[in-house]
Amino acid sequence: MAASTEPSAPPADKRVLLAKPRGYCAGVDRAVQTVEHALEHYGAPVYVRKQIVHNLHVVQALEARGAIFVEENDEVPEGAIVVFSAHGVAPEVHAQAAARQLRTIDATCPLVTKVHQEARRFAAEDYDILLIGHEGHEEVVGTTGEAPQRVTLVDGPEAVPDIEVRDPERVVWLSQTTLSVDETMETVQALRAKFPALQSPPSDDICYATQNRQAAVKVIAPQVDLFLVVGSHNSSNSVRMVEVALVGGAPAGHLVENADSIDDAWLDGVRTVGVSSGASVPEILVTEVLAYLAERGYGEIEEVTHTEERLTFALPRELRRELQGGTRAG
Ligand code: SF4
Repeated sequence: MAASTEPSAPPADKRVLLAKPRGYCAGVDRAVQTVEHALEHYGAPVYVRKQIVHNLHVVQALEARGAIFVEENDEVPEGAIVVFSAHGVAPEVHAQAAARQLRTIDATCPLVTKVHQEARRFAAEDYDILLIGHEGHEEVVGTTGEAPQRVTLVDGPEAVPDIEVRDPERVVWLSQTTLSVDETMETVQALRAKFPALQSPPSDDICYATQNRQAAVKVIAPQVDLFLVVGSHNSSNSVRMVEVALVGGAPAGHLVENADSIDDAWLDGVRTVGVSSGASVPEILVTEVLAYLAERGYGEIEEVTHTEERLTFALPRELRRELQGGTRAG
């Protein structure tokens, strides 16, 4: 991961520094495509447990095509098709679906699945697992569900003094995939000061997309007067990007659902605007924000590339099988 393009010296007039990478990650792209293919293949309605990804625009577009979003399996008619969201589900959710004879398609991001596997493995080895993440977030609920007796949530460095474990020699930390990299490291340091034998996960749990988007924001943040991150308020990675912009030197930063959420007053005295978008945000919403800014004199756009991303994920196996077999639900 290397910074490839440094922004050049600012011109006298207003401009936008546009972060790259931004927007859709491989896991979100796969999850959205999963629902789209399911709608095409089976026809509406297709039920989706929870928001497929944390973006209102995406959810509304899929609803318009016949997706029905529910909170829990018991809202899905017996025998119907239900897609599980990118954030992952606890094993008991699979069990509930089986009991209702639901036909499930699991769109959990493979990078979340990896964290679930780590939780299962360390629990089987009788470790206490300290899961760094935000209380109540769907991903955290799903990962915790893999080993509820062994997982303790650590919601930031300030939670560390209250954390208790059975055996300080058998402790490992894992994390939610969409956290602030720097804040997570602070939490790990605090945990390690308390539990010196603390083990780290075998590889990064904070995913490549979260890391790359934050790193691109960091490059731009010191050079802007205002940072706008396009994303929904329940999108963890989008919220973190605003925090990273502010910590990184942007004097002001806002999370905006779309161009309509921008307050003209934010632009008072602003010469350079940084723009990026969370991993669940379609590019059309960024294009609309750029058009809004152009109308207000910020027509010059310089894209600042931190990393080129090429990762893609195959569709869930159960859906691929269906699509290849060409069978249709009755
Ligand atoms: Fe997967 Fe990361 Fe995207 Fe979440 S943000 S869906 S973990 S790639």
